[in-house]
Amino acid sequence: MNDCIFCKIANKEIETKILYEDEQFIAFEDVNKQAPVHFLIIPKKHIETLNDVSDSENIFAQKILSIIKKTAGQTGVAETGYRIVINCNRDAGQEVLHLHIHVLGGRTFSWPPG
Ligand code: 5GP
Ligand code: ZN
Repeated sequence: MNDCIFCKIANKEIETKILYEDEQFIAFEDVNKQAPVHFLIIPKKHIETLNDVSDSENIFAQKILSIIKKTAGQTGVAETGYRIVINCNRDAGQEVLHLHIHVLGGRTFSWPPG
C-alpha cells in the first residue's frame, strides 16, 4: 500500500488543479502557494529524491526543462521571471519524499535563499 500523497495526486485519487500532464509527468498547483504562481512538476513514477534518479533516467532532465518552459509560458511568468527549486533531503527541507520540482513566479525573489 502506497501512502505517498504525490502518487495519489498522479493517480487522480486526490483532486488537484492540473496544469500539465503526459505519460511520465504531471504538474499541479501547490496547496500552500509561496508565490502568486507556485506549482510542482513530478514524475508519475515514485522516486523519493533527486539522488534516486538513475543515470539511465537522464532523459528526465531534458523533459523536465521542456515542461518548465511550457508551463512557465502557460502561467504567464516566462517573461517576468520564475525560480525553480528542488529540495533534496533534510537540510534542504524536503517534506514530501516523492521527487518534485517547484516552479515559483509572479513576485520578486531574494538571493541568497533562506
Ligand atoms: P518540499 O518541502 O517537500 O520541497 O515541498 C512539498 C510541497 O508540497 C510543499 O510546497 C507543500 O505545500 C506541497 N504539498 C504538500 N501536500 C500537498 C497536497 O496534498 N497537494 C498539493 N497540491 N501540494 C501539496
Ligand atoms: Zn510517490
